[in-house]
Amino acid sequence: MTLSSEDKKLISDSIRDIPDFPEPGIVFKDITTLLNNADAYSLLMRHLKNRYESYKLDYIAGIDARGFIFGAALAQMLGVGFVPIRKQGKLPYTTVSEKYSLEYGVDEVEIHIDAFENVENARVLLIDDLIATGGTAFAAANLIDKTGANCVESCFILGLNFLDGQEKLKSVTDVYTIIGID
Ligand code: AMP
Repeated sequence: MTLSSEDKKLISDSIRDIPDFPEPGIVFKDITTLLNNADAYSLLMRHLKNRYESYKLDYIAGIDARGFIFGAALAQMLGVGFVPIRKQGKLPYTTVSEKYSLEYGVDEVEIHIDAFENVENARVLLIDDLIATGGTAFAAANLIDKTGANCVESCFILGLNFLDGQEKLKSVTDVYTIIGID
């Protein structure tokens, strides 16, 4: 199920721009207005299910916190497991961690050391709402590989094309972005 330009417009128009959040100069893409729009959310999730049902995935890993919403829903639709990649200090068991630079600041992500241990060489899809500088996703993809699994693709609803995040990430995994923002 390829998305037509009208489909992409429905999804894109459902996302709200918040200028100067969380700091001056950043246009924050607010996906809460996509989530409470049943048509847009359902269209998006049907598209993702259709794209990924042939990928023979073992897990979907979602990035804290908006990647959890899309990732957990998609994992359930595909009948695979879901793994959270969280900001530092949130996961209760032994973790593996990576530091990274954000569009606004510096942060660290973590994964449980045994997140993929039930499947040898697990095929994992990484998902988040948006890729900006790519720092978060790059660190997350590295965490997946460090824990013995394979990040077969990373998927984003939105990509900021004026930053080089998507290009940078392509050196470690395939990248699929539904809507590019110029
Ligand atoms: P980056 O590591 O620079 O690619 O930043 C991506 C992460 O920060 C994702 O988890 C996004 O949800 C969040 N993020 C960065 N920039 C924005 C933005 N302009 N609007 C909404 N979320 C953003």
